[in-house]
Amino acid sequence: QLFAMRGSRCFSASTEPQVAHSSPPRVPNLIGGEFVHSSATEMIDVLNPATQEVVSQIPLTTNEEFKAAVSAAKQAYPLWRNTPVTTRQRVMFKLQELIRRDMDKLAVNITTEQGKTLKDAHGDVFRGLEVVEHACGMATLQMGEFVSNVASGIDTYSVREPLGVCAGICPFNFPAMIPLWMFPVAVTCGNTFVLKPSEKDPGASVMLAELAMEAGLPKGVLNIVHGTHDIVNAICDDEDIKAISFVGSNTAGMHIYGRGAAKGKRVQSNMGAKNHAIVLPDANIDATLNALVAAGFGAAGQRCMALSTVIFVGDSKFWEDKLVERAKVLKVNGGLEPDADLGPVISKLAKERIHRLIQNGVDSGAKLLLDGRNIVVPKYENGNFIGPTLITGVTPDMECYKEEIFGPVLLAMQADSLDDAISIVNRNKYGNGASIFTSSGVAARKFQAETEAGQVGINVPIPVPLPFFSFTGNKASFAGDLNFYGKAGVNFFTQIKTVTQQWKDLPSGAVNLAMPTSQ
Ligand code: NAD
Repeated sequence: QLFAMRGSRCFSASTEPQVAHSSPPRVPNLIGGEFVHSSATEMIDVLNPATQEVVSQIPLTTNEEFKAAVSAAKQAYPLWRNTPVTTRQRVMFKLQELIRRDMDKLAVNITTEQGKTLKDAHGDVFRGLEVVEHACGMATLQMGEFVSNVASGIDTYSVREPLGVCAGICPFNFPAMIPLWMFPVAVTCGNTFVLKPSEKDPGASVMLAELAMEAGLPKGVLNIVHGTHDIVNAICDDEDIKAISFVGSNTAGMHIYGRGAAKGKRVQSNMGAKNHAIVLPDANIDATLNALVAAGFGAAGQRCMALSTVIFVGDSKFWEDKLVERAKVLKVNGGLEPDADLGPVISKLAKERIHRLIQNGVDSGAKLLLDGRNIVVPKYENGNFIGPTLITGVTPDMECYKEEIFGPVLLAMQADSLDDAISIVNRNKYGNGASIFTSSGVAARKFQAETEAGQVGINVPIPVPLPFFSFTGNKASFAGDLNFYGKAGVNFFTQIKTVTQQWKDLPSGAVNLAMPTSQ
């Protein structure tokens, strides 16, 4: 039993009987293939956001333990990189099967630590699982190129080689999907990995690592260290770590991007968002309102691709009242309750911050059409709940618009024309996603061409690409140049080696010092 969750649910893959805990179970690190408890004295409580119950505790991993994890990854690297790609793929084939087997356990853990509804937690696992499935085709994805006879008797070819030890630093909002964006691609390319899960919901990462070991991933190929800023800084500074995959806020992301790059590392940094929906009056009302409600309030707005701002163009502004009608019937409840549409936000601090931003909208002259701040959820009175909130008459200068709220709060703005609406979207510093709702192909095409968001939806509210494409945020939502998963993800975790070979019967003759050419 690695660690059992307080309360009734235990989610270790181990079959040993559950041991009673007087204090909260400690979440182990994974170092060199062993799940080990840190000797750290400082711990952080992992809280169930629906109840404030302490689910477990993570250690602030010591520097020695961190070094041991990197050293284990470094030692495992030579053998793993030389392991045939077909063997590496087979580990992923097995891993996807095991994730399916344990999907329910993973989802319960996610709901308990993160708060989202059970159904949404299944989606969290499933969208990560799809990356594992994609990694099963790594041999083709990692293929190099070959040009025969670039000069007489000479061929040039390129191979994509792994980098070495890579690291991943995760946010709280997708405890399974985001670790699965990172390590399956990295290790199937032949790298070894050090993962730092979010300190708020580390359970899914540990469960996934158990499954990866069960699937046959050799010891040391995947390691896990828990902690916060210090461990992140240690990752940025470590000479043996070649690349960092980060997902989270802009404050942390830009810090990691700068500090990691200063040490010569590759960094891909997916960060915050303010995703807009433009609604034209010719859109299908019913489908559009449903899409806005689902993408605005699903996961309590804690998705990086949540639609947090809707711009009603022209007469579509009259739909605001209908939006309120649909939003206010959503059921806010503990995520394990079968009728829950949305669960709590992650922490008391997050709840206070969201309340402050809602109040900022009101104080700046916007209109609160639906106020979710005073909600009380029976059985979960201590939870960090906020009900669906709709603020209209928002303008670009308001703090509630400029900042990412990351809660169940939808801001509504109005524009006279599509041009005006696109200009609002493009003036926003973020560029993760933007959607348009319309029945006009001409308008949709203009929007697609002119909007500066990296992921565009046309009558699709949350256009997160499947893993054969890549997750392509831009502007302040992304730093780096190789995106997550898909071809770009494989390129991020590999470097190109170009080989030129000459095989011919060489005539003897005078030495030639001029630049060789094939003229
Ligand atoms: P966060 O930045 O607070 O934490 C992310 C990770 O960084 C954690 O592991 C944390 O320990 C570490 N960290 C936080 N502050 C740090 C600091 N100052 N120095 C070093 N390390 C630090 O993010 P979060 O609150 O967990 O996640 C929510 C954010 O993530 C939102 O902004 C959301 O938009 C973003 N996000 C983006 C994407 C995307 O693909 N663009 C996906 C999911 C989430």
